[in-house]
Amino acid sequence: MRLSKNIICVGAAIASALFSCGDGTTFTKAEKELIGSDTSAAIMPLYTTDSPSETELLRKVAAPLTAKDITSDVYKVLRYRMLSTVNDPENPGVGIAAPQVGISRQLIAVQRFDKEGEPFEFYPNAVITSYSPEKKYGWEGCLSVPDYRDTVLRSTSVVISYNDELTFEPLTDTVSGYTAVIFQHETDHLKGILYIDY
Ligand code: ZN
Repeated sequence: MRLSKNIICVGAAIASALFSCGDGTTFTKAEKELIGSDTSAAIMPLYTTDSPSETELLRKVAAPLTAKDITSDVYKVLRYRMLSTVNDPENPGVGIAAPQVGISRQLIAVQRFDKEGEPFEFYPNAVITSYSPEKKYGWEGCLSVPDYRDTVLRSTSVVISYNDELTFEPLTDTVSGYTAVIFQHETDHLKGILYIDY
């Protein structure tokens, strides 16, 4: 069994350097190291525009997550640590995207101000498929752009498409108001766009 598994591993490694072997996920060795396995070190350092190398990652288009990825322990730790980071009492946010903690993957967390209890929810492979023509200016800030705020013109309502965290089923949702602004800000991060670009 061990031998045959190793042969498959070698084949997979040759097929694509992107795919790491062993757990069936597409998380790279570097990503796994950054995410870690220790949830006691919960808050992750934020990547900011103060650093040229971190800016380079923030400007990249993030890679998608597979069904295997989101059922993995690595994903669970990443999810937990992103939530801890956005809830940092010393520097809280209303949303966070994986590139902001140095993981160039299509994963965002959004505080759902439009839902009871205003919970943070995670959206793998989130993309906005429709923007309302009606737009409004509102104030924004970003955990990756320290000590700055500005107004941005955003659609008042959007349709989002993403994969269910448990079943990987493709889902859509129509969101409006301030929550729609957060979705636009966070999905922009997955395209390497920062709100200061507007
Ligand atoms: Zn941001």
